[in-house]
Amino acid sequence: MNKREDFLPFCRHQLGKEEEQAVLEVLQSAWITTGPVTDAFEREFAARVGTPHAVAASSCTGGLFMVCQALGIGPGDEVVVPALTWPATANAPVMLGAKVVFADVDYKTLCVTRESIEPCLNDDTKAVAIVHFAGLSCELDSITGLCRERGIMLIEDSAHALGSKYNGRHVGGQYAVASVYSFHPIKNITTGEGGMITCHDAALYEKLSLCKFHGISRDAWKAYKGGGIPLYDLEWPALKFNFTDLQAAIGRVQLGRLDAFNERRRQIARCYLSELAGVSGLDLPADSDGHAWHLFVVKLNKQAQIQRDGFICRMRELNVGIGIHFLPVNELTFYKKQNPLVTPHAEKAGRTCVSLPLYPMMQDRDVCYVVDCIKHILGGQ
Ligand SMILES: *Cc1c(COP(=O)(O)O)cnc(C)c1O
Repeated sequence: MNKREDFLPFCRHQLGKEEEQAVLEVLQSAWITTGPVTDAFEREFAARVGTPHAVAASSCTGGLFMVCQALGIGPGDEVVVPALTWPATANAPVMLGAKVVFADVDYKTLCVTRESIEPCLNDDTKAVAIVHFAGLSCELDSITGLCRERGIMLIEDSAHALGSKYNGRHVGGQYAVASVYSFHPIKNITTGEGGMITCHDAALYEKLSLCKFHGISRDAWKAYKGGGIPLYDLEWPALKFNFTDLQAAIGRVQLGRLDAFNERRRQIARCYLSELAGVSGLDLPADSDGHAWHLFVVKLNKQAQIQRDGFICRMRELNVGIGIHFLPVNELTFYKKQNPLVTPHAEKAGRTCVSLPLYPMMQDRDVCYVVDCIKHILGGQ
């Protein structure tokens, strides 16, 4: 097979002239940090997801921390999190003194289920955090049902799920107490770094506004803008996770491009699904109409005759970048020490998963090249 000349990365953001122009306008204005552009972005984002409130944050990680703090999660509480996720989902409650318990994932969907969450619950469980893995929504009806029966709060880590739908409606719009999105450059839209929390409850929204900025309730930009007296008060201490108007300027343009981005992601994913369907050695991801296709994760099965690390090296030699989503959190040193819970499906997926290149700017010929490389490696040619 013919090796391509240039390296095909596993992910790439897409920014254009419109984003440049929007940033320039903020740069030349009198206010560059959290202000009116962030305000507008929050309103547009909330409308898009279908919630009354949205709070922009410096990252999804910061947003998860703010949500846990605002919900009063702390020492003595347990929070159930997926074994297969980015460490941020677990770190947020742990940083506040709570204990995390890892729920296994379904091997096919890589999402947690009602059945995998249920054995993790006890009288100390305060919240369940779920991840709509790769952009595929979890089974929200059954998971929400379980949380309601037990009086436990549901938090969505929606870092993969901008544009994900469940029963025809955007995730985050109706089920969880709060849903947190990411705008890291790998995600479906980007602001460089950044995140967003959506929620229904007005009281939670007020608390999140405090968690965003030291515990201080006043909007600084409004006071400065109006020439008001810049007094302030602090109800309780918080850290600082606010978002800037420079980022929001990019975010507003990117949000407008989300549907086109996700449509292209879907085309590429469906192409992979059909081209790789007969290839022995691969377990392919589940498809669904509401899938946001943040990632295309395949698992190397027993027929593959090659281990994950070897496969990644071979792909690299052929100039193709590959991601790993994820290593099980409960196999990372810190969590392994304190959490003996067995999560066999997460363990198996964590050992065998590889994320293929997937981003809107990929050309059809890039997709074909990746498929050819995989067939070449797994076919032993
Ligand atoms: C990317 C990611 C995060 C963290 O997002 P940041 O915006 O980088 O903080 C959290 N959870 C999951 C599942 C992610 O993939």
